[in-house]
Amino acid sequence: EEVLRLDGLRKSYNVGQPNEVEVLHGLDLTIGRNDFAALIGPSGSGKSTLLNVIGLLDRPTRGELYLLGQATSGMDDSGRTALRGSSIGFVFQFHHLINAFTAIDNVLMPLMLTHGKPDQQAREKALELLAAVGLEKYANTKPNQLSGGQQQRIAIARALITEPALLLADEPTGNLDTQTAAEVFELFRKVHRDRGCAVLLVTHDPRLSATCDRTINLVDGRIVSDTVNEPG
Ligand code: ADP
Ligand code: ADP
Repeated sequence: EEVLRLDGLRKSYNVGQPNEVEVLHGLDLTIGRNDFAALIGPSGSGKSTLLNVIGLLDRPTRGELYLLGQATSGMDDSGRTALRGSSIGFVFQFHHLINAFTAIDNVLMPLMLTHGKPDQQAREKALELLAAVGLEKYANTKPNQLSGGQQQRIAIARALITEPALLLADEPTGNLDTQTAAEVFELFRKVHRDRGCAVLLVTHDPRLSATCDRTINLVDGRIVSDTVNEPG
């Protein structure tokens, strides 16, 4: 099942200004439900820009982006926000958890934004997700009392509460030590397997990208290779 398709996607910054610059030069890419893919490439190659465009946080300049078969270029902002909320989960390098809230309330946050005060069913789902990431004991703990790896696990649970078809992660292990980073990668793998969502992860670490099933290499705003990795 196709989750995402890019067709001739281009992105420029500062459009119409003297410093206009195109950073994504006509990308074609298809991501399916069963993809567990790494997006790699040098700093400045356009990885974050691409993730922001795929995540409907930013608009492409030209070309088309299909999410779950729906063309997005004609959608207005509210349509894009609704589609983002129902189909995409985000995990960032810096998890953006709210330290004034408990772990479970952080996980519930995306639902609060769309549905208001969470009901008992929503709380049970959040607890089930905290259990899935190994943190059920810490449901009522504030994030800043937990380790970096545990905080990133909360961010993953939060990204899953809306049951997204596509989970996007921008350097999710960028500020974790090697061992913890490997564990968080294992958790993404488990989430992919158990929840059936496509996963696209940006990483600088070739050892981590090698653990993914597919590696997409972006250089200077172009996909220079897209390969299936041998199971290690
Ligand atoms: P990566 O994530 O691979 O490091 P980025 O997507 O952050 O790459 O950046 C790609 C290029 O786009 C870089 O040359 C960067 O300087 C430029 N860029 C990123 N964001 C902006 C912006 N808001 N305005 C202008 N240029 C930008
Ligand atoms: P990353 O490599 O993770 O993309 P960067 O340090 O390149 O991080 O970018 C951090 C932020 O600065 C991003 O929000 C990006 O859009 C913005 N940015 C990067 N390059 C430029 C630029 N040339 N002009 C304006 N904003 C930029």
